[in-house]
Amino acid sequence: MAIERTLSIIKPDAVAKNVIGQIYSRFENAGLKIVAARMTQLTREQAEGFYAAHKERGFFKDLVDFMVSGPVMIQALEGENAVLAHRDLMGATDPKKAEKGTIRADFADSIDANAVHGSDAVEAGQVEIAYFFPELKA
Ligand code: UDP
Repeated sequence: MAIERTLSIIKPDAVAKNVIGQIYSRFENAGLKIVAARMTQLTREQAEGFYAAHKERGFFKDLVDFMVSGPVMIQALEGENAVLAHRDLMGATDPKKAEKGTIRADFADSIDANAVHGSDAVEAGQVEIAYFFPELKA
């Protein structure tokens, strides 16, 4: 089993719902360790840079507007197969399609306001963690 790291963002909708602790408990109960964390209000530049891969998509502006609409809680998670383990906890992008008991099924309202972000691959996680936690040692 590979020990991996992945980047998690608790998005503005979930921070506003006051469920950071409930989401952290799910990480911890799944064996994922929080190795860095910061609550912050993203600037447009930070949000656009983070989601640069989606720049050409129709939802890009709405996504950036949403990500800067309130504080977010950003963390690096570490554990066995962390990337997939975290994606399993999150559930599908569209909460209507997310499996029962997942974070998005329980806390998200729509595909735009979908509570959490999680890296989709180990390499993406390394880039995303370096974007927000450049000081974190490998
Ligand atoms: N998104 C959206 N509308 C869409 C698809 C995606 O608003 O039709 C947003 C949504 O917040 C999603 C993010 O863009 O979480 C990134 O999309 P991706 O396909 O990478 O989904 P994720 O990896 O977050 O499940």
